[in-house]
Amino acid sequence: MHVVVIGSGPSGVAAAHALLARGVEVTVVDGGEVLEPHRAAQVDALRAMAPPWTTLQLDGLRGNLSASRRGIAQKRAFGSDFVYRGVDFIRADADIHWSASHATGGLSHVWGAAVLPWAEADLAGWPITRAALFDREASLREIVPMIGAQDDLDAQHPWAVAPDAALPLSRPMRQLLGHWQDNRAHLQHNGWRFGSARLAVDLKTCVRCGLCLHGCPRGSIWTASAVLQRWVREGRVRHLPGLQVQVLRQHDDAIEVQALDRRSGEPVQLTADRVFLAAGTLASAWILARTFGRAHTRLLTSQYFLAPFLPEQAARGALAEAELTLAQAFLQVTPDGSQHAANLQFYGPNDVHEAAIARTWGPLARLLRPVTTRAADRLLSLQGYLHSADSPGIDARLVDGQLQLAAVAHAGSARLVEALCRQLHRDRAALGGRLLRPLLRVGAAGEGAHVGGGWPMAAQPEAGQTDVLGRPPGWPRLHVVDASVLPSVAAATFTWTAMNNAARIAHEAPL
Ligand SMILES: Cc1cc2nc3c(=O)[nH]c(=O)nc-3n(C[C@H](O)[C@H](O)[C@H](O)COP(=O)(O)OP(=O)(O)OC[C@H]3O[C@@H](n4cnc5c(N)ncnc54)[C@H](O)[C@@H]3O)c2cc1C
Ligand code: SF4
Repeated sequence: MHVVVIGSGPSGVAAAHALLARGVEVTVVDGGEVLEPHRAAQVDALRAMAPPWTTLQLDGLRGNLSASRRGIAQKRAFGSDFVYRGVDFIRADADIHWSASHATGGLSHVWGAAVLPWAEADLAGWPITRAALFDREASLREIVPMIGAQDDLDAQHPWAVAPDAALPLSRPMRQLLGHWQDNRAHLQHNGWRFGSARLAVDLKTCVRCGLCLHGCPRGSIWTASAVLQRWVREGRVRHLPGLQVQVLRQHDDAIEVQALDRRSGEPVQLTADRVFLAAGTLASAWILARTFGRAHTRLLTSQYFLAPFLPEQAARGALAEAELTLAQAFLQVTPDGSQHAANLQFYGPNDVHEAAIARTWGPLARLLRPVTTRAADRLLSLQGYLHSADSPGIDARLVDGQLQLAAVAHAGSARLVEALCRQLHRDRAALGGRLLRPLLRVGAAGEGAHVGGGWPMAAQPEAGQTDVLGRPPGWPRLHVVDASVLPSVAAATFTWTAMNNAARIAHEAPL
């Protein structure tokens, strides 16, 4: 039995992990983009020495992260845009923010590593139970480290395996979470749930350098490519990087993968007993549109918003205290008027916020640097997400061989973000701080990179849907395993649920 997994991002690696456990011969193909050699050498050098690192040693590894009042335009890894390079199959309107990747490891090079498995209530209308969806969670933890806490979030988002360690909190976030704990009864009464953030981070190797939002020189933030590289070194998988899969053809006894060699432009053809498609929602939509001649798909997004949060208690000097700068706490509430919980991820002070504040001050930034630094010391930020039922959609159409994306507005999502702001304001005393509402930025469709659907799983799949094993009708050898098959997108973090579903399908697929 020989299977091809298309994509080496989180979904592809999750599927491959389950397939390897079944003793199957696995070939992983991907677009093959990697960090430029000179930057990779610089990162290797940092890895070998203890921080603090000098400005010279970090030169170019942080430079290109663009933060502004309008938010983080495109998160880079070690100053490089290699993650997004060579994605030539998308055309998008200006009001769409899309993320797709041809990198080995996909978007996991830039992800924020925040993980929270979706709750039972998030899966209303799905053709599978929550227990089935997360059946492989313990097995996935063999390849994904995780830190966090067992706290009030467990009731809705249980851990399959206890966290490896507690998430080290920055001083302001420790103060804020302490305040929430002191006001727990009041907050719970008003519908709030909170807890430590959960992160796919290996704390054993983390040196608390605070560079998380730029790229982790120690490799402590989990990436799919690190897992793949280990398997390749151990001779467990065959890896074919540098291919762009274009179309799939099914035959009675095999499935054929037609690809282009991205460097030479030459066609490449692979034959397998089964294909597991994990190219990421947008790339999979493109490949499936070409394969099925299906010109139109509707994708699901999670409305994203970003705002500074000013805690009552100052934590002077916190910015200089190097700490993990990924999400530190999760706060959830159902916005008035919605039936679905929203998820707010809180971040401690960090140099990206400092840059954002400086931009807000414009040319005066240099003069006012001491003032802005003091504000950054105090400012936290929150990134919020809504459920897909409360969020815009994305129309994806195959036009002249490319995927043309257009936003589909949602009449209620702006109102729900407003409702949430009012709830935050109402409970500001118990929440220990206030949202800086004038600086709130509501993201464009697709911003936040929680985009799924297009080929949703259904109990009785019709054209444009898949069965519970990700198979489009009449295609028993093809399993779509990435977020394309999710019937809805919850507000809680996205990727861990998509990975679990990919692992479940790969574990259950008849071979
Ligand atoms: C800035 C940012 C921050 C994020 N933070 C978080 C977070 O904190 N928590 C969270 O849950 N999620 C987060 N996400 C989302 C997360 O990164 C994605 O959900 C996740 O990477 C999707 O995994 P995937 O394997 O399905 O696809 P991808 O990561 O997109 O990987 C796609 C793979 O397919 C390959 N590929 C693509 N097209 C082709 C083709 N035609 N032929 C062959 N191979 C192909 C690529 O080379 C790649 O290996 C974030 C995303 C971004 C951009
Ligand atoms: S603080 Fe962040 S960037 Fe630094 S080693 Fe730890 S996880 Fe990596």
